Amino acid sequence: TTPGGPKAKEEKIVVTVRLRPLNKKEQLAKEQLAWDCVDDHTIAFKPSPQERATQPTSFVFDKVFGPSSITEAVYEDGVKNVALSALMGINATIFAYGQTSSGKTYTMRGITEKAVNDIYQHILNSPERDFTIRISGLEIYNENVRDLLNSESGRNLKLLDDPEKGTVVEKLVEETASNDQHLRHLIGICEAQRQVGETALNDTSSRSHQIIRLTIESTLRENSDCVRSFVASLNLVDLAGSERASQTHADGARLREGCHINLSLMTLTTVIRKLSVGKRSGHIPYRDSKLTRILQHSLGGNARTAIICTLSPALSHFEQSRNTLYFATRAK
Ligand code: ADP
Ligand code: MG
Repeated sequence: TTPGGPKAKEEKIVVTVRLRPLNKKEQLAKEQLAWDCVDDHTIAFKPSPQERATQPTSFVFDKVFGPSSITEAVYEDGVKNVALSALMGINATIFAYGQTSSGKTYTMRGITEKAVNDIYQHILNSPERDFTIRISGLEIYNENVRDLLNSESGRNLKLLDDPEKGTVVEKLVEETASNDQHLRHLIGICEAQRQVGETALNDTSSRSHQIIRLTIESTLRENSDCVRSFVASLNLVDLAGSERASQTHADGARLREGCHINLSLMTLTTVIRKLSVGKRSGHIPYRDSKLTRILQHSLGGNARTAIICTLSPALSHFEQSRNTLYFATRAK
């Protein structure tokens, strides 16, 4: 692809990479850096002599963000257009994909904040339209769906097939935001609710997927030639740690959990890979996992997707980081 070129506009899946800085612990441990951001689109590693012959040592993406990049830049370059398409009636999904502690939650929180600001700015700039914004939040843990806006709803909500809306989550609470402050408050409830689970179940965030869904509806106030009404969802997705997609250490309880996590994460990677291949890819297995069923209408078809792959810079995480880049490469 030619980033920024005429083709970039029509790109359905935008793939970017963000390398975080070394954290305090890694600095104290005098961790080596494994990666080099060669330019705005290229990330590379120093191969060992035997790898040099057989492995690619650099990877090219729509955009590569180095350790000193701010979230604002990550949002502006690639993600923003995807987010704002939901204002025009086009479903959109933004994912963070990467191993645990690579910066998924850090990045998605910042992206969510920027998207909310932009959405309300757009509303201010569009006095001719009436907007309604609704929010729901859910977590998928072991293929069980939990409502992040309603702690009373239990941990295993059912998915139903609605003839008009597609897959819906039974009894999932959807709140209408009265303004931007209210929306931020509701997002805060989802985030706090996910952390409650984290303490109770020992770091669920590495095993669970979180989806915050904003549904944006707008209608034109007076007759004109413009499209009268739009409705679309913006899905902000903080995925389980990508190490859950590999089969290492799989035994006992861990295996059971691992298998479940694998199901949603593995199915998502298959779906993304098939979508990136395009029309020739044949059957797309949306129905094989809860995550892909819930996101079906916001992935592929007319929908727009941005994937931010997050990486730890440390040499000790090299294999996981490279796996993340292999996934990112297949998504293009
Ligand atoms: P994940 O959700 O992938 O497990 P986190 O988002 O929780 O990872 O990030 C792990 C730690 O690294 C957190 O303390 C977070 O604040 C920090 N961190 C992540 N990305 C960055 C970044 N780009 N710049 C500074 N600190 C970061
Ligand atoms: Mg996290």
